[in-house]
Amino acid sequence: MSIGSFFGRGLGLLPQDFAARACKQSATCTMACSLTLRREQEISCESLSVSHECDARVNANSRLLAKCREHCCPPDTSSPPSRFWGGYVTIRNWRNSGGMQVFRTYRGLTKPTKDYPRQMGNIETAQRPRILSGMRPSGKLHLGNLVGALQNWVKLQDEYDSFHFVADWHMLTTGYENTVDLRQDTWEMVTDWLACGLDPAKATFFVQSRLPEHAELHLLFSMVTPLSWLERVPTYKEQLENIRDHDINTYGFLGYPLLQAADILMYKPRYVPVGEDQIPHVELTREVARRFNQAFGKLHLKKRSEQEWIAWGTAIRNFARPPAGKAEQFILENYHRASLDVRADYLNRDVGTLDPLFPEPDVLLTSSPRLPGSDGRKMSKSYNNAIFLTDGPEVISKKLAVYMTDPARKRRTDPGDPDVCPVFDLHKIFSGGDLISRINSECRTAAIGCVECKRLAAQNVNAFLAPIQERRKPYEQKPELVWEILEDGTKKAREVAQKTMAEVRRAVNLAP
Ligand code: SF4
Repeated sequence: MSIGSFFGRGLGLLPQDFAARACKQSATCTMACSLTLRREQEISCESLSVSHECDARVNANSRLLAKCREHCCPPDTSSPPSRFWGGYVTIRNWRNSGGMQVFRTYRGLTKPTKDYPRQMGNIETAQRPRILSGMRPSGKLHLGNLVGALQNWVKLQDEYDSFHFVADWHMLTTGYENTVDLRQDTWEMVTDWLACGLDPAKATFFVQSRLPEHAELHLLFSMVTPLSWLERVPTYKEQLENIRDHDINTYGFLGYPLLQAADILMYKPRYVPVGEDQIPHVELTREVARRFNQAFGKLHLKKRSEQEWIAWGTAIRNFARPPAGKAEQFILENYHRASLDVRADYLNRDVGTLDPLFPEPDVLLTSSPRLPGSDGRKMSKSYNNAIFLTDGPEVISKKLAVYMTDPARKRRTDPGDPDVCPVFDLHKIFSGGDLISRINSECRTAAIGCVECKRLAAQNVNAFLAPIQERRKPYEQKPELVWEILEDGTKKAREVAQKTMAEVRRAVNLAP
């Protein structure tokens, strides 16, 4: 995980949304969808195995999806069936270029399963699935933050019950020595969220540190999480070795993935929008959820007769023979007092099912376009190579003037290679298709010079940022508006967090 961000990036549509409902009645659904496929053009619903008995293969748009759902999956206002949480299907936006892939992930493995077209549009669901994402408050955002995360958040807010939070405690895990600007940085970041189109009427924004429930859940997770799980997080050792300019040799830094797990699981989201590099963090969250569920989830015994339970218990070596008349109670008590390894053994012997406290969220993957900064490295505030969303035309022109180009193009008359040029990466995102093709060909024949090419890039970046900067103005004039929006969102998030923590305290048997 990068230091500057927490999560981010994501776009997905939801064939599995109605697949989840369809799972309730797979036989009918399969048949109904097959009929739909023949009658209504290319929608099929077929058996998939393990977690989903049914999935929708969609080769059409939302209208057809809605038809299929209407046909075989009637609206359902209850929570999605718990088995759905075990479904490891995620969707990936395929470079905004017309393709979308569905991935099935299982224990960290991710495999593409099917190509999907993009235009599936909004899928109306009785209950929008929840996503959760956060960002460390690093101050004003730059173009890299915009294309890497924010643009996706804005798209997602129409389709998901979106929760976005300011991960200010996470900022402390790597920067406790300097919190001078933390409050102002929070304001700047959230103002940029609003300016980019995140809408408090559609999404919930809140501040992590305003909700002590996160700290409590983090603490409870720390009781059940083996130390080795945290030590093996890929970024942990890497950053310990690489970060020399400030102290991260702390418990807080070791424990941040667990805090992240608490941040996520508190809201029981169905998806966490992340980039590929952050899949291990979500996978750790899933492992923590499984372990916590195993430690504190209530066991529902399978339906068996007294005699069958006695036979079941007697067949296990070292297991005391269940007493007649109290066999079920005996097994339940033994289960809940046993070590987690022994409980796993019980479950493997088909003792029953667990009531999960926390559903395991899936990742919602997206590939975000590469956006290099002025020196060709990834755009980042800490590399001092970024174009900020608040930069005006003059600043942008100056920054573009020193932007790296194709290093092999030394003279105006040399042909260039746009594929290795960071300025061309800006064009690919902020310029229109005609200009992109023009530069792509004229650069290769030296028909265009870098000065002119940069001027055009600056012009298009400015045009893109102008409405964002315009939307920022009311908040700059009334800074308290941003705090009020955060306060409202925090209240809403608190309701969810308090409900979750009440369930958790009950499950752990803490004092009422
Ligand atoms: S003309 Fe444009 S794309 Fe080609 S090297 Fe110069 S700045 Fe890069």
